[in-house]
Amino acid sequence: MDRGRGRETRRAGLTGRPSGKGGRASPARRIALCGEAVDYRLIRARRRTIGMSVDLDGLTVRAPRWVTLREIEDALAERGAWILRTLAEWRSRQRDVLPREWRTGAPILYLGAELRLAVFPSRSTAIRSDLFDLTVLHPSAHDEREVADTVARWLRDEAAQRILPRVASFARNVTDALPQVRLSNARSEWGSCNHKGEIRLNWRLIQLPPALADYVVAHEVAHLVELNHSRRFWALVESLMPGHDAHRRALEDWTALLAA
Ligand SMILES: [Zn+2]
Repeated sequence: MDRGRGRETRRAGLTGRPSGKGGRASPARRIALCGEAVDYRLIRARRRTIGMSVDLDGLTVRAPRWVTLREIEDALAERGAWILRTLAEWRSRQRDVLPREWRTGAPILYLGAELRLAVFPSRSTAIRSDLFDLTVLHPSAHDEREVADTVARWLRDEAAQRILPRVASFARNVTDALPQVRLSNARSEWGSCNHKGEIRLNWRLIQLPPALADYVVAHEVAHLVELNHSRRFWALVESLMPGHDAHRRALEDWTALLAA
């Protein structure tokens, strides 16, 4: 997913966001779709068809240089319903990953499932999850800042207990040395691996479906051997996690978590 620049042979990061594929971005444009104003970026690129994608950054359109603006707008209008629906999905995901209000009823993602926060006053602090609720017992249950901090610490602890050990279980297939691994709080990538063989994994992986978190771990472990995104690298990822391609694509839908 990284662009093939020199420094990334020394350090490879796994972003959730599909990177731009060259071309020149023009200033933001606006179009009315089904009566709604939608901003988009237009990138003139070496390609044969008009492509459009929606992610955290909104709508991006890639078009060959010879296609007129009129033709581009016709294509957008044709897919207007899809564009509006997908933009709305992204907005709701962005909203729901971590609660904006840390009180009972707020949605929170954990292991890929949307749980309901249930906050109760208690003499001591405790957190537990079941199929539906993330129950938080807290001496200052009314203090949303306190509750937020406590839950954030708990999510990091969960990531340390559930995600970090996955590194060793993948790594033993590719190396005898146990790699150094730490949690990160990066806003731009799920994981990274540097030339010293140090792996960083984003604590927000605990909010993903476990198979997607596993894919990120397998990806970074494969970088211990191939610090690049060559064909050999992807073959190694596939050997560590057969069928990884579906997970790689699914991961793009969860990018909003990184910025939350
Ligand atoms: Zn990578």
